[in-house]
Amino acid sequence: MTEHSIPSRRGLLRGLAAGGLATVAATQAMAQGADQGAASAGTPTKSPPSLGNPQNLYVKPPFALQPQPWPGLQSKMHPVPDCGEKSYVGSGKLAGRRALITGGDSGIGRAAAIAYAREGADVAINYLPAEEPDAQDVARLIRDAGRKAVLIPGDLRDEAFVGRLVAETVRQLGGLDALVSNAAYQHAQTSILDISTEQLDQTMKTNVYALFWLVKAALPHLPAGASIVCTTSINTETPGKAIIDYACTKAAIANLVRGLAKQVIDKGIRVNGVAPGPFWTPLQVTGGQTEEGLKHFGANTPMGRPGQPAELAEIYVLLAASTSSYVTGQIYGETGGVGWP
Ligand code: NAD
Ligand code: MG
Repeated sequence: MTEHSIPSRRGLLRGLAAGGLATVAATQAMAQGADQGAASAGTPTKSPPSLGNPQNLYVKPPFALQPQPWPGLQSKMHPVPDCGEKSYVGSGKLAGRRALITGGDSGIGRAAAIAYAREGADVAINYLPAEEPDAQDVARLIRDAGRKAVLIPGDLRDEAFVGRLVAETVRQLGGLDALVSNAAYQHAQTSILDISTEQLDQTMKTNVYALFWLVKAALPHLPAGASIVCTTSINTETPGKAIIDYACTKAAIANLVRGLAKQVIDKGIRVNGVAPGPFWTPLQVTGGQTEEGLKHFGANTPMGRPGQPAELAEIYVLLAASTSSYVTGQIYGETGGVGWP
């Protein structure tokens, strides 16, 4: 397991178990200090953790410049992103489910993979071969949760590979009922004149074409009750000026979520999206931000800091779980208060 990013949280997070909201409870406890004892006859010996200010729960900018060659490893980031490795506690919300998560090696996809496994799902992850060390960490965490981990490296820009990815997932997991399309490419350019056709092609293929190919390959296998969850972005509605090609793809994904949801509900399949604001992940240190953007990453949100992937995990769980059976065609924002997703 990789080192946790915020050493002071370690002791508090270790061993905490309080259902699906354990992450929040633990971080709140961290923010406020130790529980206050409340012993009296007939009452529990400890009061619940105090509420904490979410602005102070995780690391804040400024961040050190730390460029890595794309696609990067999160184990080399400073601080290492918190994907819930030590904090997420499941409660059987996805018991017996079979999930495929693209980009499941790091960042937001990794947080979803850990949470899905701890909620009782077997999980296949896709990533690029250069990300094998991060993927091995995730596989270990899934197996530690008592679930099956399947690692399928490969490039989503290759349609034939995407077909094999889904077929292999179905073969190894014995089926598929949760598809999380989460991989993406983002490369900052301050002028549209600097966006090469090669970059445009990579961004569109990874973020949009691969999603169509994934859905087309997966649909014949998805039973009624299955769920498709797509990662879109705050950039859907408020595009950052240095990532306009990426922002276009995220708008396309959000649009596809809403249209596809109408099309496949007659098969009993739900489709939803998650729209993160700024989250501390490898995507940002491998060309996703300008130097200035990285230094002050998350500073211009009302929260005053970027999110950590662990803070998103429960949304991915919720959207795949059968308890959200009336939720489809929705985009669920988690933006630190920036506005509409
Ligand atoms: P990340 O770098 O951890 O994850 C992106 C993953 O995409 C990589 O791990 C890689 O495995 C995968 N990938 C990229 N190109 C690929 C290819 N050609 N073939 C196969 N896999 C490929 O970063 P993240 O921020 O966790 O990104 C996950 C999702 O979150 C992305 O869809 C991203 O657009 C979205 N998102 C991130 C933020 C943020 O601030 N980090 C904000 C909004 C949306
Ligand atoms: Mg990665």
